[in-house]
Amino acid sequence: MSESKELNRCAYKWFWGVVDLSVGLEWNPLIAEMITAASVMIELWERVLSPRQRADLAEGFAAKDEQSARVAAAFLAGASRLGEASPSRMTSFGAEKQSSPALDRARAEWREQALRAGLPLPLAGARLRHADPEHITAAVLPRLTGCDCAGYVDGEQCRDRDHQGLHLAAYALNRHGADVLHADTVAKAYRATGGPAWDAVRAALVNAVAHHVGIKAQSLASLIRPTHPTSLTAFSRLVSQSNRLSREAASRGFASPFDALDVMSEQARLHAREAVSRMRVTG
Ligand SMILES: [Zn+2]
Repeated sequence: MSESKELNRCAYKWFWGVVDLSVGLEWNPLIAEMITAASVMIELWERVLSPRQRADLAEGFAAKDEQSARVAAAFLAGASRLGEASPSRMTSFGAEKQSSPALDRARAEWREQALRAGLPLPLAGARLRHADPEHITAAVLPRLTGCDCAGYVDGEQCRDRDHQGLHLAAYALNRHGADVLHADTVAKAYRATGGPAWDAVRAALVNAVAHHVGIKAQSLASLIRPTHPTSLTAFSRLVSQSNRLSREAASRGFASPFDALDVMSEQARLHAREAVSRMRVTG
């Protein structure tokens, strides 16, 4: 394999998550934080939820057993920040921080290395469409988890009954729950996704999350088949909690895009365990 191809396979590791300026400049690859959220969901499931809550979640997912529901929930918690992997979000590296020469240098360095690794960043200053990352997640995730129906652009729901649950699950990943997203909102978000080059890198990102929890992203429909948005309300809240805890655990720049995925996975599990232990101690 040529060097550039090898690098392109790792382009997804250059999506950034938390940028932390508190002690020097650190940033985490988004994938590291996504798989931490996935591991937090596992920890919550195994150590915090009651047997009754676990059974209710499995029933809401219409999963064949609790183990299927658990890995699907972990995968979805991890995938829920997928929408941050968009052109407008990625070109705003550190934008919410106060500007400084150190931040400018870090942004320029990140950009140069990300481009070299194959991230299809737009030209500096290009006009970009914006959309809420949660809406972008809803627009793109069904296609990455097994819906390959022709004739439907992302943002539209296909008519395949086997795929209905994929749309419902993707819609449940916003903080307001599964029953609030309007089709027009999702269709508008689709126009901010950046097109096929971005689709390819987002697919690698989602596959990495799936690898972390031990499933194939495209086989999600074989694990869960939710049929009604209100059955996923408790799950939506757990996803928010997993993301919050993973962000707290992740703010120190614990991973680098040069790390192997397995190394990141080990770190993510450790941080998730610590985050949930802290939560149990502090109540
Ligand atoms: Zn479909």
